Amino acid sequence: MNIQSVRGFKDWLPEDFIKYQYLINLARSILLTYNYKEIKIPILEKTELFVRSIGEFTDIVQKETYTFQDRNKEFVTLRPEATAGICRMIIEKGLFVNPKPLKFFTTGPMFRHERPQKGRLREFYQIDVELFGELNPYLEAETIYLAFEILKAPFNLKNYSEIYTLEINSLGCLKCRAEYKKELVKFLKENKDKLCHTCQERLEKNPLRVLDCKIKTCNDVIAKTPIITEYLCKECKIHFEKLKEIFNSIGIKYVENPRLVRGLDYYIRTIFEIKAKGLGAQDTVAAGGRYDYLLKELGGDYLPAIGFAIGVERWAISIFGDKKEKFLQELFPDIFLIVLEDELLIKGFQIAQFLRKYGLKCEINYEKKSLKAQLRNADKLLAKFVLILGEKEWKEKKALLKDMKKGVQEEIKFENLETLSYKIYNKIKNEL
Ligand code: ATP
Ligand code: MG
Repeated sequence: MNIQSVRGFKDWLPEDFIKYQYLINLARSILLTYNYKEIKIPILEKTELFVRSIGEFTDIVQKETYTFQDRNKEFVTLRPEATAGICRMIIEKGLFVNPKPLKFFTTGPMFRHERPQKGRLREFYQIDVELFGELNPYLEAETIYLAFEILKAPFNLKNYSEIYTLEINSLGCLKCRAEYKKELVKFLKENKDKLCHTCQERLEKNPLRVLDCKIKTCNDVIAKTPIITEYLCKECKIHFEKLKEIFNSIGIKYVENPRLVRGLDYYIRTIFEIKAKGLGAQDTVAAGGRYDYLLKELGGDYLPAIGFAIGVERWAISIFGDKKEKFLQELFPDIFLIVLEDELLIKGFQIAQFLRKYGLKCEINYEKKSLKAQLRNADKLLAKFVLILGEKEWKEKKALLKDMKKGVQEEIKFENLETLSYKIYNKIKNEL
């Protein structure tokens, strides 16, 4: 029986992985300049954490989490997102006493049992960014700006506004949202028979989620629902206006989408999504918003917060395409060592160690094969250079260095292994 991977969980082969690493390293370097600190939180958490934070009646908790009882019969869940875990960490470690703002980021896999398709997996990677500090629209502007800075960093994308679109909305505070909810429920009840079965359920348990339904008949109803921005209280309105004013003055383009909602209950006031072209139905690359009450709800102090997550797979799709080759180059060995005599293997072994210390990507084959077979192998591995050590040359303190791309070779004279290695390094470092 051939065992296959679990549906929606994918292998990352080197040629894929190198792209993800490139993206994640870029994101990391930008986040550090914003004074975010990198952390790691567990992949497995108590189920209760997600029920209490994301919300019992959300799709994520009801349908998408990998939840099971462990051997002690405790309910645990593979994290579907990272915000809840970071809040748990802050409370558990008492980080409130630290100077504010607290700024953390983490990268790693998230798990959701959804229908796999382009840009939707069951195990997917996120770059998760969270800031705890104050209730200030400047922080939102800065956070959203940061999300763009990261997304457009690969290849110094200049035309990023043609690829990415920012949608924003305000969900109001607890007070004005409650007002809005009442009106929304009233309207939806009047149109209940036109809603899909799931939305009829949502209407009772989580009415805002109806706005996110993708079914055509529901969409017709959604297009006529009252909109939250007309119900915002004075403070929320001023807050949202200020955010837009900041965007306007720094030239960030945005689209107001008064029916934008998020799949997690903890968001409040500003929420946003960044969508990308060319992704089909799963076009949201980054999403986030404010969640001022989450820490308190989980048992901590009140501390306003804002954050977002970038879906790395979707980001990669929006960026790469035909730019794959640049990265493949990095997977090729810089130099392949061909040792023609058994007695010289130990010398080859030592030269390889020197070259690696100098930072070259070095490969060596210890099996006895003909020069022709070894050269063929080096060629298949796409090695950029080959070093040939033969008995005769060795006695004359010479080695042959072949540039595989140019097809030329030269003799390198040496006194000892270290000088040989250093000469090789100097010869090829400029060619790489
Ligand atoms: P969607 O609307 O696609 O269901 P979501 O609202 O559930 O997304 P969030 O929980 O906000 O998404 O996650 C943030 C980002 O993580 C998304 O914008 C997306 O890029 C990525 N993401 C979410 N779910 C998946 C998935 N199943 N596979 C791949 N990426 C995902
Ligand atoms: Mg989702």
